Amino acid sequence: MSEVRFDFDLIVIGAGYGGFDAAKHAADHGLKVAIVESREMGGTCVNRGCVPSKALLAASGKVRELANAEHLSKFGIHSAPVRFERQKIADHANKLVATIRTNLTKTLERAGVTILQGQGRLEGSQMVGVRNKNGVDKVYSSKDVILATGSDPFVPPGIETDGHTVFTSDEAVNLEWLPRWIAIIGSGYIGLEFADVYTALGCEVTMIEALERVMPTFDPDITKIAARHLIDGRDIDARSGVLASKVTPGCPVKIELSDVKTREPLEELEVDAVLVATGRVPTSKELNLELLGIKTQRGFVEIDESMRVLVDNKPIPHLWAVGDLTGKLMLAHTAAAQGTIAVENILGIEKKIDYRSIPAATFTHPEISSVGLSEEEAKQLASEEGFVLGTVRSYFKANSKALAELESDGLMKLLFRKDNGEVLGAHIYGLHAADLIQEVANAVARRLNVVQLAAEVHTHPTLSEVVEVAYKQAAHQLK
Ligand SMILES: Cc1cc2nc3c(=O)[nH]c(=O)nc-3n(C[C@H](O)[C@H](O)[C@H](O)COP(=O)(O)OP(=O)(O)OC[C@H]3O[C@@H](n4cnc5c(N)ncnc54)[C@H](O)[C@@H]3O)c2cc1C
Repeated sequence: MSEVRFDFDLIVIGAGYGGFDAAKHAADHGLKVAIVESREMGGTCVNRGCVPSKALLAASGKVRELANAEHLSKFGIHSAPVRFERQKIADHANKLVATIRTNLTKTLERAGVTILQGQGRLEGSQMVGVRNKNGVDKVYSSKDVILATGSDPFVPPGIETDGHTVFTSDEAVNLEWLPRWIAIIGSGYIGLEFADVYTALGCEVTMIEALERVMPTFDPDITKIAARHLIDGRDIDARSGVLASKVTPGCPVKIELSDVKTREPLEELEVDAVLVATGRVPTSKELNLELLGIKTQRGFVEIDESMRVLVDNKPIPHLWAVGDLTGKLMLAHTAAAQGTIAVENILGIEKKIDYRSIPAATFTHPEISSVGLSEEEAKQLASEEGFVLGTVRSYFKANSKALAELESDGLMKLLFRKDNGEVLGAHIYGLHAADLIQEVANAVARRLNVVQLAAEVHTHPTLSEVVEVAYKQAAHQLK
């Protein structure tokens, strides 16, 4: 398939989930592929993100459950005080990372992908330079190039990190120590997940959120019920509308808090540690994008729905970008889906991505998930397209399985069009919400309507009946 004049059919820069999926898919379809990686294979998700954080959440979730004597006593269970070993919990996460990284690397090797260790950059149209850690630099030609360099933690100005007392999720996943009192700056999904881990393991948490309300990126109704349980019901002091304007590492760590609007100093805190969870920035500086006239949006590379890189709204031939670098729904499965779609287009099969059907989950105990439009976006669409927006709520407290588990704190909100019943989105808080959302994501992907969905039989007794009830209530409103 390779044309003689190119070293490769495809070079992918970055071996995170986006790059991995693209490289594997291309190699499986007979292309001659190389992947360039400057750090560990597997990128953020495998080494510093989804994988270690979910391993920590799994272990700390068990500690939380076993330590909740009141909850267990309702089943008639009385356990001894829980004892855990921090290092063994950290080891569990580290081992999982190593296993998944090895599996992923072997999968690429077996598929015939050439792995080039080094820092990759554009060296012209269809040209990629790679500098390895010994300083050896080589330039390769490739018919197509995919940029998949991901993102890094964002540390706001005024905050100094030392990786030990003030750190980001990059270090937090190692669980090197358990501070008695930790401040978490940011109440997005990463801040919430680590608050879940730390409180389960006995740490006191102060959560600092600059925006007006905590959990600002979540549906407001879901936030109300989730925050009651995940924040107010735990050893967490949450403050919103407050800026951590200066953070100085040390023992103790000093935090200066100021009012977001007036910037007036409010208070100084002294804590044992600070986790900075204030979002992520694209890793695009070293890519030499200027060479091809590519202008970024705050570092993010602009793409079309087929993953072609755009300059002044026009695609650059043979150059593609996927994953966090593009700033769209920055999640591992988004990156992977974009990677596959880029390769499909390279293979000549026209494919576009459907961001609306990509679900998102926060793996707290219990979990939070969503798919499709927010209620605000749905209202906007309703007014633009002239339809009435339908909203129904289905409660876990009416679900037999949730009641049997004594986990009946939960809510699902379903958004749909009242003219044709199409599902527009869903937001869930409750036991296994991350699994429950997939059913709705599939419905959104197929643009199914609630009347069709309400007729589908769900297993009894399962949590999936929470979704079934929502569909039935919505279908009833269409009558
Ligand atoms: C704590 C945490 C928890 C998360 N949990 C989840 C979760 O549960 N579910 C989920 O879906 N997502 C989760 N995410 C998000 C997920 O990790 C990212 O969305 C995903 O990793 C993005 O994949 P990517 O391929 O775009 O980039 P990355 O995974 O960031 O990979 C990019 C790779 O490119 C390499 N690179 C960068 N520049 C160069 C260069 N010039 N040359 C060569 N190599 C280069 C980097 O070293 C890196 O390995 C989490 C993130 C964090 C931080």
